[in-house]
Amino acid sequence: MEDDERLVSPKPANDDQQVEKSLRPRNLAEFIGQEKVVAQLRIAISAARGRGEPLDHTLFYGPPGLGKTSLSNVIANEMEVKIKVTSGPAIERAGDLAAILTNLQKNDILFIDEVHRLNRVVEEVLYPAMEDFALDLIVGKGPSARSLRLKLPRFTVVGATTRLALLTSPLRDRFVAPHRLEFYSDTAMCEIVARSAGILGVSISDDAALELGRRARGTPRIANRLLRRVRDYAQVVAEGPIDLAVARTALQQLEVDDLGLDENDRRLLRAIIELFNGGPVGLSTLAAALAEEVDAIEDVYEPFLLQLGFLQRTPRGRVATRRAYEHLGLTWIDGPNGSAEQGPNQNRLF
Ligand code: ADP
Repeated sequence: MEDDERLVSPKPANDDQQVEKSLRPRNLAEFIGQEKVVAQLRIAISAARGRGEPLDHTLFYGPPGLGKTSLSNVIANEMEVKIKVTSGPAIERAGDLAAILTNLQKNDILFIDEVHRLNRVVEEVLYPAMEDFALDLIVGKGPSARSLRLKLPRFTVVGATTRLALLTSPLRDRFVAPHRLEFYSDTAMCEIVARSAGILGVSISDDAALELGRRARGTPRIANRLLRRVRDYAQVVAEGPIDLAVARTALQQLEVDDLGLDENDRRLLRAIIELFNGGPVGLSTLAAALAEEVDAIEDVYEPFLLQLGFLQRTPRGRVATRRAYEHLGLTWIDGPNGSAEQGPNQNRLF
């Protein structure tokens, strides 16, 4: 299945974008969870405002759908400055970046999503811009070419990435403050569902909000998507507000299980267990067996399965844990691959 079609994919689906805008928290007070990051930002913003300076260049990293874009907008609102939104792959040439930079005003924010995907040539232009607020232009060609330095207003780059390890180290060094976003707690998720329901005018009981939040993989984007689908079910099939029973039946129909896993997650775990005897299996072998992209497995499937303790990354590859066997209803004897008899298929013999 195309990853973006999955109900529990943390990446934005086509129909998410409009609704997401209305659900985005606008200021720090509205932003639920990520307390550590919020506390640090609050101080940094207040200090920068007090000095009348731009905020230091800031980097957010963590799985998709956890609020990196939202936080960037929150920062712009709190700083009362404009934000220009772009992404690594969208800036193809040095000239594209130069055009963006020369349009910025003092203290503005330049938000670069997927900042690990900037190409080298563009990165080279970004370094002096971030460090010295300068744009180095080459004028002319051949032996008469000379370099011209253009002064830029002082501004802030806010970068977001799902893959910190793919950032080049010179770029990483230019961000003063890297912030790691974590999966949200059940309590925070429940609050997010309740808040979104309020904005969308959906009636939902507290226990149903908790249930939805619990099954949304610690990811607000998924919570909002599940909420919209369950709302449809409540309206059309149950013809009433969302209570716990309605939420559970709707989620069952949507094939989102008790922990928020869908058929794709179960397929991945089953592949490790049944095809590779529980692992270890190398990432590319696993991707080939599932006909999936390596990136999709690393970005989308793994973070949550690792968080649940269903999967382990070892130097020799991915391993399914005892908890994964148990969740799938497979018997674990004493290790996934201690001996040939101990694979799940052989368990029936005992
Ligand atoms: P990312 O940039 O990390 O992929 P986004 O900032 O686009 O994630 O967040 C996805 C959606 O999740 C947003 O539209 C917003 O509605 C919701 N969201 C994210 N974080 C929060 C939060 N802390 N509180 C409430 N809603 C949130």
